[in-house]
Amino acid sequence: MRSIQNFINGEFVAAESGKRFDKRSPLDNRVIASIAEAGRPEVDAAVKAARAALTGEWGGLSTDQRVELLYGVANEITRRFDDFVEAEMADTGQPHHVMTHAFIPRGAANFKVFADVVKNVPSESFQTPTPDGRGALNYSIRVPKGVVGVISPWNAPFLLMTWKVGPALACGNTVVVKPSEETPLTTTLLGEVMNAVGVPKGVFNVIHGFGPDSAGEFLTQHRGVDAITFTGETTTGTAIMQAAAKGMRDVSFELGGKNAGIVFADCDFDAAVDGIFRSSFLNSGQVCLGTERVYVERPIFERFVQALKAKAEGVKFGRPDDRASNYGPLISQEHRQKVLSYYRKAVEEGATVVTGGGVPDVPADLADGAWVQPTIWTGLPETATVVREEIFGPCCHIRPFDHENEVVALANDNEYGLSTTIWTTNLSRAHRVAARVEVGITWINSWFLRDLRTAFGGSKQSGIGREGGVHSLEFYTETRNICVKL
Ligand code: NAD
Repeated sequence: MRSIQNFINGEFVAAESGKRFDKRSPLDNRVIASIAEAGRPEVDAAVKAARAALTGEWGGLSTDQRVELLYGVANEITRRFDDFVEAEMADTGQPHHVMTHAFIPRGAANFKVFADVVKNVPSESFQTPTPDGRGALNYSIRVPKGVVGVISPWNAPFLLMTWKVGPALACGNTVVVKPSEETPLTTTLLGEVMNAVGVPKGVFNVIHGFGPDSAGEFLTQHRGVDAITFTGETTTGTAIMQAAAKGMRDVSFELGGKNAGIVFADCDFDAAVDGIFRSSFLNSGQVCLGTERVYVERPIFERFVQALKAKAEGVKFGRPDDRASNYGPLISQEHRQKVLSYYRKAVEEGATVVTGGGVPDVPADLADGAWVQPTIWTGLPETATVVREEIFGPCCHIRPFDHENEVVALANDNEYGLSTTIWTTNLSRAHRVAARVEVGITWINSWFLRDLRTAFGGSKQSGIGREGGVHSLEFYTETRNICVKL
């Protein structure tokens, strides 16, 4: 069993209080790690170390030197690829190929891409006329915001955490990271990487624990934190925003979603079935960008439902390192109870269960794991609980539609606005519909096709701000304007 410590000022340290908590495997509910829970003293020490680092060696580095260090971090992650894959599989229970194709390579890419962004970004300048005719020159410089608090979730832990830490460090900030209590391993491993490549002490700190009355809350309340970047549930975002209001700290929020998939009858049918299958069921449905509401044009509705059902029934549950399996469990027993309660609610509210709706048969050694069946419903009104609320499980409701305007209205009739996926071969219609769906990210004939230079974030209750490419610089730096009278 692993013993996991906090990482403060370049050292792995336990908590002064001696408090620890257990991490259980989603596969079989066995305890796989004991984690030191940071109290206020550790959070304070981490924030102080991060502040001191701002004016130490780190603060004196040129952009080029910082960029080189971040390239070193990316290369070291790649060198220790197998360690990261193993740790992330242990935490999440998700299949090996998801780790090797997405979660871990994206972690390394997050350092490289933002190193390139800061190296190449131009600064703004204006030549300003003045009454004396000699003019003035206005130009801007970007400076780091300071100590950034990073609070991350469990669903794609390494990818989502580095998506914040990469740009924060590229811009010259220092960070204190509070990973999810469900997935502490890869963030801790990143501490080893930072030391190995010579990132100065205090630049990257990790504190472990929970949200309320624990490390998460202690961090967001700490007045030594200059800005908070958070990915997680909308209700948690509300609590963090209240904490950030004291001291006027800036926030960047990537929050929940209840995303619509829109399938027109003229789509490439097999590609659309594949795309919706991935968007509803990848990572056992635990993807913020996932599709829990699917709208299919009536002429292909029945055929589409049957094709998606066949794919959902074809998944093979098993351990991540068992290459014959391709499907993992939910993150925890607690989350499983929540998802299963939605499965029951769907039936109570009159859903037709096309497939799933319960717990799959798994081998005896996995019987205590957080397994649920991929589930498809039809026949519910838009007011049904499972059509309105984010479930964050492997499930979707499919409803037929007849007109373009109707499907746009259906897609928009939700308090969230994170992403959508549209399937059609009529490109004019694709552009038209894309412009009208109230979300931050739209994919046409694809899903989760990411270019890290693009703007990423949610509308409505799905977030505040945009990150990605130069958009990340808006959050992780302060722009200073300098006016020179000529
Ligand atoms: P969560 O909000 O429960 O927890 C996220 C993090 O916040 C954890 O580290 C947790 O310990 C911490 N936390 C909880 N309460 C806190 C508090 N009061 N103060 C400070 N920290 C606190 O979310 P989760 O269950 O880990 O993740 C799933 C959610 O994340 C879903 O809603 C999903 O849609 C969302 N998500 C959004 C995106 C996006 O890009 N928009 C990406 C991934 C996940």
